[in-house]
Amino acid sequence: MLDEKQYFLNGKINEECGVFGVFNVKDAAALTYFGLHALQHRGQEASGIATSNKKEIKCIKGKGLLTDTFNSQTLKQLKGVHAVGHVRYSTAGGNEIENVQPIMVRSHKGHFAISHNGNIVNAKELKEEMENNGSIFQGTSDTEVIGHLIQREREGTFEEKIIKAVQHLEGAFAFCVMRENCMYAVRDKNGLRPMSVAKVDDGWVVSSESCAFDIVNGKDEFDIEPGQIIKFDYDGIKKIQYTDKTQKKMCAMEYIYFSRPDSSIEGINVHTARRLSGRMLAKIDKEQGGIEADIVVGVPDSSLSAAIGYAEESGLPYELGLIKNRYVGRTFIQPTQKQRERGVRMKLSAVRDIVKGKRIMLIDDSIVRGTTSRRIIQLLKEAGASEVHVRIGSPAITHPCFYGVDTSSRKELISAKMDANEVCEFIQADSLKFLEIPEMMEAFETEDLCVACFNGKYPTDLYDLGEQLEEELANE
Ligand code: SF4
Repeated sequence: MLDEKQYFLNGKINEECGVFGVFNVKDAAALTYFGLHALQHRGQEASGIATSNKKEIKCIKGKGLLTDTFNSQTLKQLKGVHAVGHVRYSTAGGNEIENVQPIMVRSHKGHFAISHNGNIVNAKELKEEMENNGSIFQGTSDTEVIGHLIQREREGTFEEKIIKAVQHLEGAFAFCVMRENCMYAVRDKNGLRPMSVAKVDDGWVVSSESCAFDIVNGKDEFDIEPGQIIKFDYDGIKKIQYTDKTQKKMCAMEYIYFSRPDSSIEGINVHTARRLSGRMLAKIDKEQGGIEADIVVGVPDSSLSAAIGYAEESGLPYELGLIKNRYVGRTFIQPTQKQRERGVRMKLSAVRDIVKGKRIMLIDDSIVRGTTSRRIIQLLKEAGASEVHVRIGSPAITHPCFYGVDTSSRKELISAKMDANEVCEFIQADSLKFLEIPEMMEAFETEDLCVACFNGKYPTDLYDLGEQLEEELANE
């Protein structure tokens, strides 16, 4: 559940994690550091790196940004040619240090480290069953459940144990497991979270997003398929399809909001997808009677690509009407409403000379609670904008996400309670339009998407989370 601090800090929905892995590349810790740096947008609450020097695994992790835990001294302690790393945004499990990843599993049968992105929807049931059979958990994250599932298998090779373990998991997962001499990268059968592989020198790197490959000079990249495990050892890579009951349900929010614009997911560049969603919004406006605005402004940073698309299609000038202050410290977390509002003003500024007297077409990627949109519109109007029309590059979010995104309740979602006209009134816009699901799919040129938070059609069983949702719907 999104608490007030997290909401203030981010003002948007947030994803849980970024994963980076290295197999057989010199100075794997430094490479992982650079990779995680490119994934820092996926989680800022904790980070960790585990390395293997082929004999033993060492792990360092801590709370805060990557730079809060790692420097040249800490990285020197992490020797080896294999590594797994993690940046975390704590939703499932909370932000206690026990939940910070990579999670280390140490036993007489061998040691391994796991970095995971996503959310296991049947983690509670699995955990209860394992606790009843004597397992003891250190923390509350679902990643530890994966570790126990692998560890509890008595028979077979490590590869066979992973294959057996993943058969029990339901939900969204993309994770890396590293042993002293090999590494595995695994994606769930619905492909809900992204994970790609690239070649670096004689070795390999794995990343939640392809934007991290550029910084480490990764080549020949490819996506891990849904239901697939990639094994990395000194013989090269081996692709193992652990189930054929697969479908392609990539999280639509990866394209809309989470991923960096320079990443490509399933062959689609994120910037291009957002730009096409902006073009689609303008096309619809033109078809429905024209556009009454002077300039197009995007909400920085994730909506700038869609704003460029809207400007291209509409012929209106694209302007920098809002500026993001990149140096607002994470420590600026204040408890009162007034202080929080000042915080939004510190994060975003309206450019008075640009917006004064103008009718603005404001492009944003999504609306969650509506309060951030209302404050941005207020900023623009206080700076002299005569009208603010809002266009959203995604459908209205009406349902919670159970796959590793921090909207676990409908109560947090304004569009679960209000239609577009009511939301428009609440955020004090002069007009408001969302993309419909088919329009978004047409813009992104793919139907291989999870759109559950827009229509409530979840691609997996939800176990007790489904019961919670039903209860919430019954009480509305
Ligand atoms: S429910 Fe929404 S946020 Fe969650 S995985 Fe599906 S598309 Fe993404």
